Amino acid sequence: MEYFECDVPSGDGLCSDNWCPCSKTVIPRGTGYLYIDQSLVDFRSQYRTMKSVGEAMGRGVVGPQIDMPIGLFRWGPILVCRRGAKLRNIDLKIAAADAKYWWKTGEVPLRATPLMYESVEKEVNLLKEKLKSVQELKDKGDVEQLIKVLRSKESAGVRQAAADALGEIGDLKALDPLIAVLKEKRPYIHFDWVYVAAARALGEIGDSRASETLESIANNKREFSSVRKAAVKSLKKIQERTD
Ligand SMILES: [Zn+2]
Repeated sequence: MEYFECDVPSGDGLCSDNWCPCSKTVIPRGTGYLYIDQSLVDFRSQYRTMKSVGEAMGRGVVGPQIDMPIGLFRWGPILVCRRGAKLRNIDLKIAAADAKYWWKTGEVPLRATPLMYESVEKEVNLLKEKLKSVQELKDKGDVEQLIKVLRSKESAGVRQAAADALGEIGDLKALDPLIAVLKEKRPYIHFDWVYVAAARALGEIGDSRASETLESIANNKREFSSVRKAAVKSLKKIQERTD
């Protein structure tokens, strides 16, 4: 990531967003949200240091004028309170991280603050990509890679897809990794579809070595009902196979 310089106030900051209905909320040092807009990025990409932007101003160069009284221009991003950041629909996590970094270093990322929907869209696209690659692994019958995904720290949706794929393929190599998923230590309030998918996949594979783990899930009253139900169903399937 590239950055440009912007002086940090000596004390606390103020919400300086003219769009924000708050009346200059005090923003304690180190906090708040930075709103960086594209016109500022375009401008500051030519003048990255405070010195060069100061010289440009001295020569009468005019920067972006958005949200300021006419005749003035901005050379830095807008520090904004939570309310203002929400109204602008910017990605709160990124804007807060940018602000924190700026307070610490006096540097601002040389890119516009993403809007919330852009970040969500990006994540959804990334997830779609990953799900697509799991689908491709399934089509190829690449059990080893699917097990890798299952064991990874990928999001639950991706791991769930891997567990489902392994169940459908039905290769015995997946038995232990799937059992391991169900034995993962987790806070009992933590629900993930990957556990349902793992319990289901063990039923598809149908090997009785999974029975013990599935039984303990089925009998665990603290377990989520959808995980327990999947375990009960899979136990039945395994039973039917061995009968
Ligand atoms: Zn505000």
